[in-house]
Order: sequence, then structure tokens, then C-alpha cells
Amino acid sequence: MPLDALPHLRSGKVRDLYDVDEDHLLLVASDRVSTYDVVHPTPVPDKGRVLTGLSAFWFARLAELTPNHLVSTAVADLPDVVADAAEHLRGRSMLVRKVEIVPFECVVRGHLAGSGWQEYRTDGTVCGVALPDGLVEADRLPEPIFTPATKAEPGEHDLNVALDVVADRVGTELAELLRARSIAIYVAAAAHAAAQGIILADTKFEFGLLDGELVLADEVLTPDSSRYWPADAWRPGTTPPSFDKQYVRDFATSTGWDKSPPAPALPEEVVEATRAKYVEAYERLTGDPFAQWLARA
Ligand code: ATP
Ligand code: MG
Repeated sequence: MPLDALPHLRSGKVRDLYDVDEDHLLLVASDRVSTYDVVHPTPVPDKGRVLTGLSAFWFARLAELTPNHLVSTAVADLPDVVADAAEHLRGRSMLVRKVEIVPFECVVRGHLAGSGWQEYRTDGTVCGVALPDGLVEADRLPEPIFTPATKAEPGEHDLNVALDVVADRVGTELAELLRARSIAIYVAAAAHAAAQGIILADTKFEFGLLDGELVLADEVLTPDSSRYWPADAWRPGTTPPSFDKQYVRDFATSTGWDKSPPAPALPEEVVEATRAKYVEAYERLTGDPFAQWLARA
């Protein structure tokens, strides 16, 4: 549902962004679900609420490691003009400080997957970082690596870049801070997830500058910005199932879909099973019932 009361700035595959005032934005996570970067026509109910609930959880949990842009997830704190949409926004919106976004996706990888695995297989490196021989798909890396990427235009894929490219653009000091902070956040989050039986294979952060300070922005450590695997299904040498999207991927593949738009509609049982996985991710990672998140928001 679009929000008419506030100026609409942009919509990505999943999130809609609105202007609130000079200093604030409203980020609204929809229930849209994408696979292979294409949005399916069928929404997954509550998915956006899980994404927002998890971002809020992580921002709070990481507060000692990094400041962040979040002001409030409570609908009571939203401007009066959106009062009509309060029920729609409940649990899925974040009122945030406007920041000057650093123009790189700050990716940290702790396991070999996706484009990292592809590059390793052909070149023995991941984003130019040399790795030991003999690693297999999904292997845990000797230590987590920072593999920044440029932010792609809609429809384009992000492009991995070397740390030097980041340094040329934002300066050596900020580039090093981005690297150190991203890795520290990943290490803390991966340890927490591991204790809940979930592997955080890799994840992507966005940072911004606010009054000269580096703050964590955007969504953080959600299933959409991260590759989460169920630890009990992890077998190095095979592609682990996605914690949250596997039913959608399996269904989409089974239709013979060639991964170009439009993506197939999802049957009821795939929607229900996927919704349950998102809720499970929320509950396992936060240790709280999902209903409690909705009640608080
Ligand atoms: P996609 O899947 O295509 O990335 P999405 O649904 O994640 O789309 P985005 O298009 O990424 O949505 O929308 C979020 C946008 O908001 C990003 O461009 C991000 O850089 C920006 N953003 C996040 N937090 C802030 C902030 N505090 N100040 C300014 N911009 C922000
Ligand atoms: Mg995005």
C-alpha cells in the first residue's frame, strides 16, 4: 500500500522510502519477496515486519559497537499525517535520521558462497583477497573478509571493488574504519546467530555520515541483507539451503522459470511455509515471540 501523506522518494525491490522532514526519513519494509533479484507477484504476509523487527533488534544489540540511524519503530512516534496508515505501518516502519550514505555496500563474508565462491573457483581469490587452496563451496573462511561493492543502479548487479577503490573515493582513514567496523559487527552477529543454530554466511551493511560521525544505516542483518543458513543443514561442498527463501527458490526452480522477469506467482503452501521461516528466524535470533514485536511496535 503506498503512503500518500508523505513525499515518496524511492522504492527498491522490497522497501519504500519516504521523506518526513529535513532530518528524518521513513523506511517501510513491504511483504514483497524476490529471488534472483526479481520480485514475485505474491507477497509473504509479515515478511516486512520480520525485517524491521530484526533490524531493530540488531541495532540495539550492536549499540556498543556502532551508532546507528534508527530513531523509532513505534507508530506512535510517526507524524500525524500518516495516522490513517498506522495499522499498515505497525511493525514494518523505521523512522531514521537522514545521513549521507557512504556509496559502497560493506560486505563481510565468513563463508564461501554466491559470487565469492564463483570467483574463488576460477581465480582462487575473493574480491582480490588470496585464500588458501582446496576450499569447497560453503566452507568457513580462515577469518572473515571485507569485500566492498559499489551500489548498483536498479536492475544491475553490485560490482565488487578492492579496498583501494574505497580509499580513493572516501579516504584511507574512513575506508579502514568501514572495514574494521564491518568486520567487528559481523563477528559479533555471527557468534550470536551460531548460538541459535544459524550460520551467518555473509552480510551487507550500509553506513552513513551524520554530523561527522560514521553510523550504521539502512536495514541490518536481516534475511534480505544477509545469507543465513540453518547450521544443521550445512555440508561443505554443497550449496546450503537458505534459512528463509529456500521454499520460494525451490518452487521457482521447479516451474522451469529462467530467472528473468516476471517471476512466477507463489502457491499458498509456499507462502505459508516461507512466512513461518521468517517468523522462526525472528524468534530464534531475538529469543522473543514474534507477537511481542507486533505488540511493541
Ligand atoms: P534493493 O533490494 O533493490 O536494494 P530495497 O528494497 O533494499 O531495494 P533500497 O532501494 O535499497 O530498497 O532502499 C533503501 C535506500 O535507502 C537505499 O538507497 C539506502 O542507501 C537508503 N538509506 C537507508 N538509510 C538511510 C538514511 N538513514 N539516510 C539516507 N538514506 C538511507
Ligand atoms: Mg537495498
